[in-house]
Amino acid sequence: MWKHKLNIAVALSTLLIVILIFRNSPYLWLWISFVISNFIVFLVFGIVFLRFQYFYPGIFRNSDPEVILTFDDGPDPVQTPRILDILHKHGIRAIFFVIGRKALEHPEILQRIISEGHMVGNHTQNHSLFFAMLHSKKVAEEIDQFSQNIEPLLSEKITIFRPPIGYTNPKIARALKKRKLKILAWSVRSYDSFKNKEALMKRLMRTRPRSIVLLHDNLEQTADILEDYIIQARANGIIFANQENLKKFIHEINK
Ligand SMILES: [Zn+2]
Repeated sequence: MWKHKLNIAVALSTLLIVILIFRNSPYLWLWISFVISNFIVFLVFGIVFLRFQYFYPGIFRNSDPEVILTFDDGPDPVQTPRILDILHKHGIRAIFFVIGRKALEHPEILQRIISEGHMVGNHTQNHSLFFAMLHSKKVAEEIDQFSQNIEPLLSEKITIFRPPIGYTNPKIARALKKRKLKILAWSVRSYDSFKNKEALMKRLMRTRPRSIVLLHDNLEQTADILEDYIIQARANGIIFANQENLKKFIHEINK
């Protein structure tokens, strides 16, 4: 949040200086709009790009060499089981940022995710596309409802969170801080909502040791290419996380 506070402080002090220096100039409003637009550009970057860590710190890599696959927006009755089959076949464990509402609709799939040794992260109860625009009370409700519904099914508390659409703001940051939730971001974004499998595979080939890969388990194309991706990445020397690796990763980020 210090970046946001710094941006505000810089904008206000520059505004004051500009007014003092140019108070009699016909260009005063031009200078003021320049300062304000600079402030807004930083603010929008902060909201849209997690990488900027403007409101809240994020985890972008594994400190160990293993690659962590993460799947958002499930469980999906068709694609998630396909993905679980492939992960099981290859002995890989992943993190599923499930949507609370969908997990309640498909409890058997959530149970399968858990019993097969994968981890679950908080991706809010309803995954509102306007999550970043909700008021503080609703933001807290979305996070807490998820925890209340999903945590009883796990043996431990969920400590990782991924904001819907990846947008953050001061309200989300405050709610996460209060609940000691960590934002698990990514270093490889697959953009798997685009259906071109060749382009998707090309983006996934950017996977390097320590990468955290963002995928979606509600998408057909993701399930279609997952096995080829695993085989090709392994041929390039990539090691995907197993259950022990994931446990160590979560343990370390909670320290
Ligand atoms: Zn999502």
